[in-house]
Amino acid sequence: MLKAPIQSTRMLIGGAFVDGEGQVLDVLNPATGEVLLRLPEASVEQVKAAVAAAEKAFEGWSQTTPKDRSMLLLKLADKIDQHAEELARLEALNCGKPYQAVLNDEIPAISDCFRFFAGAARALTGAVAGEYLAGHTSMIRRDPIGVVASIAPWNYPLMMAAWKLAPVLAAGNTGVLKPSEQTPLTTLRLAEFLAELFPAGVVNVVTGVGETVGSSLIHQPGVRMISLTGDVGTGRKVLEAASASLKRTHLELGGKAPVIVMDDADLEAAVQGIRVFGYYNAGQDCTAACRVYAGAKIYDRFVAELSDAVKGIKLGLQDEAGVEMGPLITERQRQRVAGFVERAKTQKHLEVTAGGHPLEGRGFFYEPTVIAGARQDDEIVRREVFGPVVSVTRFSDTEEAIRWANDSDYGLASSVWTQDVGKAMRIASRLQYGCTWINTHFMLVNEMPHGGLKASGYGKDMSLYALEDYTVVRHVMVKH
Ligand code: NAD
Repeated sequence: MLKAPIQSTRMLIGGAFVDGEGQVLDVLNPATGEVLLRLPEASVEQVKAAVAAAEKAFEGWSQTTPKDRSMLLLKLADKIDQHAEELARLEALNCGKPYQAVLNDEIPAISDCFRFFAGAARALTGAVAGEYLAGHTSMIRRDPIGVVASIAPWNYPLMMAAWKLAPVLAAGNTGVLKPSEQTPLTTLRLAEFLAELFPAGVVNVVTGVGETVGSSLIHQPGVRMISLTGDVGTGRKVLEAASASLKRTHLELGGKAPVIVMDDADLEAAVQGIRVFGYYNAGQDCTAACRVYAGAKIYDRFVAELSDAVKGIKLGLQDEAGVEMGPLITERQRQRVAGFVERAKTQKHLEVTAGGHPLEGRGFFYEPTVIAGARQDDEIVRREVFGPVVSVTRFSDTEEAIRWANDSDYGLASSVWTQDVGKAMRIASRLQYGCTWINTHFMLVNEMPHGGLKASGYGKDMSLYALEDYTVVRHVMVKH
């Protein structure tokens, strides 16, 4: 059984570590259902104090040079690498994820995110200064915005903290970060590194439930921008809160990624790809390869091979040898996933060709599942499941595949599988998604943007585009 000492349980407000004064919440190990910790959430007064601390710190932090900010971000990245095993253990324990996956996939990408933005902070450039009106010189500035309230989900807690903090800090903003109430542990440990390195108040961390602490945070007048990664419904609440005082918003919401497997695809690669990218993190991923459209000629073989491959995915505890997939985050989430599958089972044209059941015993495990014969109007094709369930729909021609792929409320991620590069490029150019992968799925790099269209939200994480999102363009004009 994975062991991870939980040392950091206090919030960071104005450079001081404090216990929450609000209601006490259970933090669970989803692989066993056991309570890891009982953690008090922030009171409204503490949320206000965190925002006030960030406002005060903004005066000094916004005047630092990009180089100074960059040096601190590099030190933070080093700290994360130095504590990689400890952070990976904590994350695995709190999310139920396989420890090796966190250690080898997530932690290096997290420290790299801080390193990328350390470099990016020094590389922002813009339009040339010039005399656009005779006798006047104009120049463009990109300045920080102020206090950013960052609200993170439970599926990749530390990575989401990195995506949200690194560009905010690199740009010279200050912030208040709220991790998910379900998965605060790595963020609380990160808060200790932040307190060692950054001036008091530059980053504040408050914990608690969305409806109380999150809602209080996004309504604070001192907050100039709200950045959320979460559910579409939560995105709407952020927009309502933002409308009162016209705060800026940055929304990374859900997804329902289409995966077009053409008749000429390398079938083995597509099957292996979807086996990995449809079920990674138990499918609790906004880019998960969950909505497959397979060409009519390969459809039967594809369904058979994918179903066989998926049956071989090894479920288990965080540190079990060879474990590939952990549990869902909560019993509630498992019941939600089971609900989708049970409703699908009542449809005659749908066939569950792999999985389809919760696992008996402790923890919130659900079998990796394939549902074949899906039609475009089926719930399983249209709604985000956020679990280990992949639907497969047969298409007859390319136009139909593109039309169905785009026929979604969401617009975050997509992929096309074909051995014809020209065909891949033609299809990619017509997909209405923030990202299209060709012959792969889910691969992210800190240099490239991640973000959606339509109900998946707007604003980019990672890349120089994120740095731009967290700055404001200003014009300064001098009369000669
Ligand atoms: P969620 O919206 O329930 O919670 C996300 C965060 O918002 C949590 O910290 C929560 O406490 C907070 N929150 C909830 N209600 C709030 C309110 N009224 N006011 C302020 N804050 C509030 O989402 P979740 O269940 O944690 O995560 C799953 C969702 O996140 C899925 O829909 C998934 O697609 C999405 N997601 C999107 C991306 C992306 O990059 N687009 C990445 C990961 C997850």
